[in-house]
Amino acid sequence: MTCRIVFLQVGNADCTLVRTPDACAIVDLPKQRPLNDCLKRHEIRSIDRLFVTHDHSDHFLGLERLVNWLESWVRDERPVVALHLPDGLWQRAQERLKELKGDGQVDSRKYQRLQSTMAKIFEWDQGDHVRCSPVSAGHDIADYGPLSFKVLHPSWLEVETQRATRRAAHNEWSLVLRVGYGAFAAVLLADLEGEGLTSLLDRTDRRGPASIRCHVLKIPHHGAWPKNARELVALLEHADPEMAVLSVGSRNSYGHVRPELFRALLDLRNRRDRRLRTFACTEVTRTCALPVAEQSPHGRGLPTPRPCAGDIIVEAETDGRWSWPGEEGHRVTVKSVPLAACLNRAEA
Ligand SMILES: [Zn+2]
Ligand SMILES: [Zn+2]
Repeated sequence: MTCRIVFLQVGNADCTLVRTPDACAIVDLPKQRPLNDCLKRHEIRSIDRLFVTHDHSDHFLGLERLVNWLESWVRDERPVVALHLPDGLWQRAQERLKELKGDGQVDSRKYQRLQSTMAKIFEWDQGDHVRCSPVSAGHDIADYGPLSFKVLHPSWLEVETQRATRRAAHNEWSLVLRVGYGAFAAVLLADLEGEGLTSLLDRTDRRGPASIRCHVLKIPHHGAWPKNARELVALLEHADPEMAVLSVGSRNSYGHVRPELFRALLDLRNRRDRRLRTFACTEVTRTCALPVAEQSPHGRGLPTPRPCAGDIIVEAETDGRWSWPGEEGHRVTVKSVPLAACLNRAEA
């Protein structure tokens, strides 16, 4: 009984597949093709759960395209797909409909498409083919044998506060999940930063680090270095992962992965009182490929996507043992990356 966690190479975006003999869950869906290919390769025939961490295009392809994609997975004979959309997304879609209606655009394609998309989701939910429900910190989903999903962030009070203040979907409030498989755990930090990072750290400080301790951790926000970086480092120390995964795109124009983040990971890896022994990026970025002098100040990335670890597949057992079968292949690849951070080759 093995649980596979696949961090798909989707550029500067997130798409994670969690697969056990009993269940299949997806966390974030920014692009259809790489996910479809992966589902085919792994011969996956049904999807049990889809979490969308937040409503940014590098994590979610939008309601209309979601419905088109789900169409092939929602069949009467298939089990339910539980769908966890970001808070406020449905409300915003309703408001958009109202707006279009107010502008006299009921006959427009825009209105018609959105209206039929929402009607479809409603109909699926009514028929129990797709079950829509909100989740927030404290939700523990343990429907699939040893596999469980625990929501670590945001708390329900934060969700409600955000709703009351009508703030748009920000990285701060992206859904943070702890995927458990018996004694094994992985934590997916989505795009967590800023106030959200402060809040999760505060909760972790008050409740003890056990809640966030994990074997494998997905670094938040594609390797950004937040203003409250010390809190990020503190959270990484509490989580104390053995492996860190960076889902990052060669062509990103944000300077991800920030060199400061790599330095923090190297510091952790060097510490005897911490467990980190490896970290890897899905794609090579300018940080590892170009000397600082050649890195555009405006943050332009590399001209073409270049896989580093590519899809990162972690295999875990319920007793807590885990492996990354692609580790050797990654070791070979990084030899040709001039300033590979994971080889500690960065310029002094
Ligand atoms: Zn985001
Ligand atoms: Zn993102």
